[in-house]
Amino acid sequence: MASQAPDPQRSAARIAVFALGGTIAMAPREGGGGVTPGLDADDLIGAVRPWLDGLDVTAETVANVSSSSLSMAQIADVAGRARAAIAGGATGVVVTQGTDTIEETAFLLDLLLDLEAPVVVTGAMRAPSQAGADGPANLLAAIRTAASPSARGAGVLVVFNDEIHAARFVSKRHTHRPSAFASPLVGPIGWIAEGRPRIALKPARRTPTLAWQGGALPEVVLLPIPMDDGGRLVRALLPDPPAGVVLQAMGAGHIPRDLVPLVAELAAAIPVVLASRTGAGETLRQTYGFAGSEIDLISGRGLIAAGSLDGPKARILLAMLLAQGADRARINAAFED
Ligand code: ASP
Repeated sequence: MASQAPDPQRSAARIAVFALGGTIAMAPREGGGGVTPGLDADDLIGAVRPWLDGLDVTAETVANVSSSSLSMAQIADVAGRARAAIAGGATGVVVTQGTDTIEETAFLLDLLLDLEAPVVVTGAMRAPSQAGADGPANLLAAIRTAASPSARGAGVLVVFNDEIHAARFVSKRHTHRPSAFASPLVGPIGWIAEGRPRIALKPARRTPTLAWQGGALPEVVLLPIPMDDGGRLVRALLPDPPAGVVLQAMGAGHIPRDLVPLVAELAAAIPVVLASRTGAGETLRQTYGFAGSEIDLISGRGLIAAGSLDGPKARILLAMLLAQGADRARINAAFED
């Protein structure tokens, strides 16, 4: 890495790093068989220490798992640690983890935290043992973003591949490239140049904060709706429905017409949120009028439009709302928001 001039604004920064595992912390298994979580928070910091420019960085290993095995309760615990770190004098927080669930964990942190101080999530697409490993560059960029006064008040951020994304909009769009993260709806809100974080845009509003300390969470099922879906999964849920369902429907919020009676029965029993499997754009409300269209499902069958949240993010929001005992009106209002 080229040497970069220290930014005087960073000199007073104290950054708390919480490591949860993921590719950024993975090492080859002895005898072969792929990489698994193995490096701890100190190892991660060790790889970027020459570039920390006197920043005061503390690091803690909270978990060491692939992010596909993280729970929402673990993220609530990280939110508590972030709050405590800031209350204890840290000026920013970085969370390192696997990339597979960053779009969900970062959004959950955004819902749980209302800190002014920057909270930045990052990871890596290539393990430290691979050529061109991206973990150190991502971690350094995340630490520098967390140390930047310009990132205050922007909500939880995801820093990856020299881009800064708002947690509310970011998603993983590729299985293996270092450029896997994108915010299809709005684009990145900033970038890193020569080690300097630049926030070009801030979300017009912060994500509303929902209190949840962990513990039992109402079950919310994310249900994909493919072409010619025969309804087996919806039918399987009907006798003993979960607390809520998010449909990952086609296009602007559409399902096969033969599924409508089943989905209507489900929506009469529990909140059913209508999201889109397209990965970008709002669920429409008043454009299409065919059987199984968004008008049929929202106005006619009581489904709740997911707004611009995709399925995985809508599931997180619905779970948090149900954990607070929110009724339909409040759930509707939260998704309207
Ligand atoms: N592929 C993943 C990663 O980027 C594995 C995980 O999410 O833990 O870290």
